[in-house]
Amino acid sequence: MRVSWAAATHPGTRRPTNEDSFCAREDLGLFVVADGMGGHAAGEVASRVAVDAIESFVAETEGDKQRTWPMAYDLHLGPAGNRLKAAFSLANRQIGAEIAKQDALSGMATTAVAVLVAEKEVAVAHVGDSRGYRLHAGTLSRLTRDHSWVEEQVQAGVLSNEAAREHPWRNIVTRALAGGPDPVVDLSTIDVTPGDRLLLCSDGLSSVIPDDRIGALLAEPLTLQRLCERLVELANAGGGPDNVTVLALEFHDQ
Ligand code: CA
Repeated sequence: MRVSWAAATHPGTRRPTNEDSFCAREDLGLFVVADGMGGHAAGEVASRVAVDAIESFVAETEGDKQRTWPMAYDLHLGPAGNRLKAAFSLANRQIGAEIAKQDALSGMATTAVAVLVAEKEVAVAHVGDSRGYRLHAGTLSRLTRDHSWVEEQVQAGVLSNEAAREHPWRNIVTRALAGGPDPVVDLSTIDVTPGDRLLLCSDGLSSVIPDDRIGALLAEPLTLQRLCERLVELANAGGGPDNVTVLALEFHDQ
């Protein structure tokens, strides 16, 4: 299956810098969005280091798709899932290495959500509250469950999705790539059919725009580029409280 893509990123209306990073490597089938956190420019560094490390590992293993070294191979996952899992762990270590080199980067961290489109497998990995969505036959589903305080409350039935988007603690993530011990990465394999669209985004979109609105826009016959621009416009029209990054994919027969 062939995949086409488009992306857009914007600092939002209230933040001076953009600490999100993304990469789209059609040749590798790799698509990543990361949302950095940390004082000064550290968040920007964290998300960039993570995206670069994930991209490097996937590029390096393109010719040897069973390779996860120096990380262990997980028999519960396919080769693409394993490569993403190893790539995330290496990204986490790289963040630790950068922090060790520069005191000013201490405390930096990043979320990451990635899709790796392989021949027989489409793998999704994430840590933190950046999200993946799939639009299939006009219906939107979430591919990721946020590692965030508010999502835990939603899962516990204590908070509604609407209340979660308004909650003062909505930005608190419970898992991130922060340079410490190897992270627990959520991994899944998804089914895609031609015509399906995927969306990767930072919480600058999902904490402002409800899922049904995102789904309705994904279902519109817009080009992917226009779709990404519209999503950013919506986030900013909704207050633009945070950096926003959206990366849209569409699957085709050939
Ligand atoms: Ca954010």
